[in-house]
Amino acid sequence: MAIVLYARKSVERENSISCETQIEYCKSVLKLDERNEKILTFIDNGFSGGNINRDGFQKMMKLVRQNKISKVIVYKLDRISRSLSDFVNILQEFKEHKVEFVSSQESFDTSSPYGELIVKILMVFAEFERTSTINRVTQAYAHRSEMGFYMGGRQPYGFELVPTVIHNIKTKKLNPIPSEVEQIRYIFEVYAQESVSLRRLLDILIAENKKPLNGSNWSTAKLSNLLRNPIYVKADSDVYDYYDRHGVQMITDVSMFTGEYGAQLYGRTKHNPDDPDWSDMKLVILTHTGVVDSDIWLKCQRKLEKNKQIGNSVSNRTSWLSGKLICEKCGHTMTTIKGKINKDGEMRRYFNCTGKSHKKICTGPKVSIYAEDLENMVYDCIAEKLLDLKGTKHKTETSNTAEINDLKLKIKAIEKSEKQLLDTMLAGGFNDDLLMLANQKATQLKRDRLALYERIEEIKSRDDEKDIVVNLAKSWKSADYNRKKAVAMIMIDKIVISEDGSTKIIWNI
Ligand SMILES: [Zn+2]
Repeated sequence: MAIVLYARKSVERENSISCETQIEYCKSVLKLDERNEKILTFIDNGFSGGNINRDGFQKMMKLVRQNKISKVIVYKLDRISRSLSDFVNILQEFKEHKVEFVSSQESFDTSSPYGELIVKILMVFAEFERTSTINRVTQAYAHRSEMGFYMGGRQPYGFELVPTVIHNIKTKKLNPIPSEVEQIRYIFEVYAQESVSLRRLLDILIAENKKPLNGSNWSTAKLSNLLRNPIYVKADSDVYDYYDRHGVQMITDVSMFTGEYGAQLYGRTKHNPDDPDWSDMKLVILTHTGVVDSDIWLKCQRKLEKNKQIGNSVSNRTSWLSGKLICEKCGHTMTTIKGKINKDGEMRRYFNCTGKSHKKICTGPKVSIYAEDLENMVYDCIAEKLLDLKGTKHKTETSNTAEINDLKLKIKAIEKSEKQLLDTMLAGGFNDDLLMLANQKATQLKRDRLALYERIEEIKSRDDEKDIVVNLAKSWKSADYNRKKAVAMIMIDKIVISEDGSTKIIWNI
């Protein structure tokens, strides 16, 4: 069995920390008894972390697979890979072959419960990354949607389907029918008004004799369906946020939400209009131009939610903290219930003690525990915790700048001494002994100076190279409902709510 020290440096980063220095860092975390074991060093100089096609790395993995390695030490996690899925796959392989994995800079050690926890969280994010990749690559349907093809279903009012060719593939495209589009805009504009209910909208249309131009009649159900359809909106980032917040799977990247094109919501056929589970739905940007401005369209969505026509989205119905909340008074779990709709048309959810609601043995907290407030608070706590995972060596950029400045001053001082020494030596008059001493002094000064440069290099690389754990904190910022739930499941044991409403998070680590 051997211990591997692995170092990697990209070509493009001239100022990044050298492989030799990385190896020194790796050695520094060797335990005393490990220093006598067989140590192997693998170095990939000039290789990017974007893939794992690296000579040294592949040689190391070969030995890992032959069960010849007991431990792998790196300077930082991203030396292994910059891709989260690659990284997680490698960790899995290490685990299968009982290889411990240690990073010198992130106090990351897979043999500790702490390290295990990080691996689990990494896997949550990597898993989502992987599934979305699989969906994209293997499902022709998803592929079609990515290219903006109409995803089928009944032809929406206001458009006709015309054959077209996109990327050499025959498909159909929605073409607006001007007279119908005009009517649709009118419907959205009328309904966007504060005082107009669906019922009132229908009355107005009837009074103005504005029938659907295909000869049928309007009904509140038809109108509600029409108003909910993103095919009409000029989808921008606000529309993206709206669906993302509701747990819809966003197929098209946010950069495509330019405020120009319409979108299509598709997916599950089983659909309870009063209580749709939007997490099974997908949203894609299509190739036709939207007909309703996003602010008007969103205003209508808020009104529809208020009217309960749209029902409740995932995030409206439940909480990603569900199952984690405990009432301190009686020890029963707390679940979300819907509150009243406020004047902005929003419905607030709050947590209620099941000991109170189901068993009538508890009075529950004396104050309302609003789900949104609690979620925001826990969300921030997790974000902080994830940043902490980076370890104690993390420093802010400002302190880095101060540190670098300080080191530069020290270098200046050394350079001055070096110059003085050189001047004195050049002036002559030294005997051999003194000359030898002066030489020794000069060598020492040079060594100190180089060490300081190395140190600056190391500090800079801390800023430059955002490592995987930092990315984790970033991923959390953009986590959707399901990811939040998964991460909360791993990190949090329970959240105890006391009678006065104060909150205590019991972490799993
Ligand atoms: Zn209770």
